[in-house]
Amino acid sequence: MKHVLIQSGHFLTEWEKVSSLKSQLIVSAVNVIESAYWLIGGDHYQQALVLLDNAIELVLKGELERIHPVLVADHRNLGDFETLKSVLKDAFRQHPAGAQVSIADFDFERTIYFETAFDRVAELYPSIRSWRKRLLTKGGDPNALHALRNGIMHYKGDRDENGRYVAAIVEVALPFLEELLKLITQQAAEPIRLSHLLKEWIYREVEVAKGVLSDLQSAGRAPEAYAIAPLAHHILWSHTRWPSPQDDLDMVTMNDEWYDYAARQKFPSGWDGDLTIDVDCPICHSFTPDNSHIPAKALINGEKLNEKIVAPEGFICYICGFQIEPTQTYLAKHFVPAIDPDKATEFLKDFGFV
Ligand SMILES: [Zn+2]
Repeated sequence: MKHVLIQSGHFLTEWEKVSSLKSQLIVSAVNVIESAYWLIGGDHYQQALVLLDNAIELVLKGELERIHPVLVADHRNLGDFETLKSVLKDAFRQHPAGAQVSIADFDFERTIYFETAFDRVAELYPSIRSWRKRLLTKGGDPNALHALRNGIMHYKGDRDENGRYVAAIVEVALPFLEELLKLITQQAAEPIRLSHLLKEWIYREVEVAKGVLSDLQSAGRAPEAYAIAPLAHHILWSHTRWPSPQDDLDMVTMNDEWYDYAARQKFPSGWDGDLTIDVDCPICHSFTPDNSHIPAKALINGEKLNEKIVAPEGFICYICGFQIEPTQTYLAKHFVPAIDPDKATEFLKDFGFV
C-alpha cells in the first residue's frame, strides 16, 4: 500500500469527476500534475514547471478532443487519407462497410500547437483570454510560462532564476489549471477543485507561497524560491515522512523515541529562546509516530513587540524537521498558524509591553 498521510478523501471524489470527462488527454494531464508535485518535493522546480506547462497543453487539447479529435489534428496532415481515417475512426465504425476498413488510432504526436489550442478553447471559455500573455511566448513576456519552459528545455535553465520559476508555478500555472478545470466542469453540480484533487491540506502551502510572493512584490523585491519550501516539505512529509529528524540519529529504538525528539529541542544558532511561542506544525501537526505531542516553536520578531504585535519571523518543528530562518522574509508570517490572542497577550505581558 502506498504510504501517504491522508487527512481527507476529497481527492478521490475529484478523480471520479476527472474520469467522467471521458478524455484520455485530461486524465493524462492530471497524472502529469501529480507528478509535478513530486518534482516540487524534490526541489526540482524547473522540471515541475515544464510538466505543468505540459499539463496545461494536455487539458486544452483534451477539451477540444471532447468535441472532436479533428480539432487537435495538425491540418497539414489531414490531406493524408490514413490520418483522416484515424481522426474519423468513430464515424467509419458506424458506416455498414466502414467497420471492415483497417484504421490506426489517432496519433496525438501530430497535433496543433499550444497557442492554437489555447485560442480555440478560449472561444469556448472567453474568460481565459486574460491569461494569454502570462502563458504564451507570443506577446514577448520573458516570464510567460511557456517562455520559461522553453528556456529550461532548450537552454538548461538557471538555478539562480529559481525565484522566477517558482513564481510562474504558483502565480500562473496552478491558478490557471484551477480555473480551467473548474470551467470545463462548470455544468456539474460540483466543478473540479484542483486544491482538493491535490489534497487540500498540502495545497494550503500554495496559498502560503502566493502570500510570500505577493508581499515580496509589494516590497519591490524579486521573487524568492524559498516561498515554495513549505509546499516541497509538506509533499515529502505526507508521502514519505522524510526528511525526518531521525535521519541523523545513530540508532532509533521504539522505546525511547519520545526522548530522541525531546533531546532535539534546541534552538537554531542566533535565535533568542525567550522569544519563542509553542505552535502546532501545519505539516506534521507536531505528533510523533507514537502519538507524543511535541509542539513546534515560532520565533517572534522582537522589534515588532514595541508596537505590541506578536509576529512570527522564524519557525522550527522537531518532528518533521521543517525550519524557517528570519532571513526568509515573510515566510513565517504566512506559514505559521494564527497565534492564539490569549497566548499573544500573555507573551506581551511577560515582556512588560502590556
Ligand atoms: Zn512538523
